[in-house]
Amino acid sequence: MEDYLNTPCPRCGSKRIISRSWKEKVKTFSGTIEVEHTQIICINKVCQKNFENQRALEAKKREEERIKKEERLLERKKQKSLAKKVPLKRKK
Ligand SMILES: [Zn+2]
Repeated sequence: MEDYLNTPCPRCGSKRIISRSWKEKVKTFSGTIEVEHTQIICINKVCQKNFENQRALEAKKREEERIKKEERLLERKKQKSLAKKVPLKRKK
């Protein structure tokens, strides 16, 4: 499918196309409905690549944040269970 969109890429101003569109059946309370999905990409390959990298980076960051949060929780639990005499080690 080579449908060009009217709005240019907000990142580089190039044209954008629908690279993929597909329909998905979603079950709802009243039955099944069809939902249409579209994937829009920039025709500027460098820009699109950057965008994908950026998105992957953000996903990675989010995942790291999530792990850190879990570690902090675990650490807190551990400290609670430790005797109070033990001095806390400070990390930089
Ligand atoms: Zn672009």
